[in-house]
Amino acid sequence: MKIAKTRKRYCAKCKKHTEHTVAQAKNAGRSKTHPMSRGSRKRMRLRGLDRGAGNKGRTSKGAMASFKRYGAKTSKKVDLRFKCKVCNKTSVQAQGFRVKRPEFK
Ligand SMILES: [Zn+2]
Repeated sequence: MKIAKTRKRYCAKCKKHTEHTVAQAKNAGRSKTHPMSRGSRKRMRLRGLDRGAGNKGRTSKGAMASFKRYGAKTSKKVDLRFKCKVCNKTSVQAQGFRVKRPEFK
């Protein structure tokens, strides 16, 4: 899907409509797995790990690191960031929409 590189949008700082540049967020807010979280420790206990204090160097990427939860859908929601050309303030889009391949033109 083609997405315009610039768009006129309301800027909360300038309090009026200004030109904004549109870009996709690089790390779109996905949470990383934590090796010592409660769920990870529970899973480690089920697998016979997690004895004593600390992770003992067993988990560097978390117990969920290899678990694949996605794959049913072929599209992903885009996370667009709008940057005001006047004051350089960045704002986030109100609602994401599904797109197979975003193209900035
Ligand atoms: Zn502004």
